[in-house]
Amino acid sequence: MEEFDSTQWDAPRKNLFSIHKLEYAKGKRPAVDCILCGICRQDPEVPNLTITETKLTIVSVNLYPYNPGHLIIFPKRHILSYEELTTEEALEIHEGTTKAINILKKLWNVQGFNLGYNLGKNSGGSIPHIHQHIVPRFPNEAGFLDVLANSRIVIYEPYEMQKEWIRIWSEFS
Ligand SMILES: [Zn+2]
Repeated sequence: MEEFDSTQWDAPRKNLFSIHKLEYAKGKRPAVDCILCGICRQDPEVPNLTITETKLTIVSVNLYPYNPGHLIIFPKRHILSYEELTTEEALEIHEGTTKAINILKKLWNVQGFNLGYNLGKNSGGSIPHIHQHIVPRFPNEAGFLDVLANSRIVIYEPYEMQKEWIRIWSEFS
């Protein structure tokens, strides 16, 4: 795990995240059949950013976030199409999504979100195991630090973010 470098906090958002994306592009992707199944079985090869686990789903920080606070929620079953989701899985995904949105609205004052799945070959998704993205959107996203200046979370590094989310998720009702 990389040390979190606090001197990077004032760097533009793009630079902060390009570091992780670069490693990804260099082929540092874990050599497992499915990264999300790897997370489910706690495979040591796979970076694990799980926030919480329900009977049928996992809520996780996205390792390559589009924005700070970018989460994914996915069924533990390895399914590749939305139609395979059971009602029970869909309900748990809905409940996780609702809680994540409530947390982001209340603690970070997030006022915009993109929610969704990239499904199938031409969708732009990189992991076939279906997963729903929750991407908070901010006014003037490059100036995100200003938005968060007085909030409880000012941490960007994914593993630090995970620690914060685990704490907040368990406390938030
Ligand atoms: Zn899978």
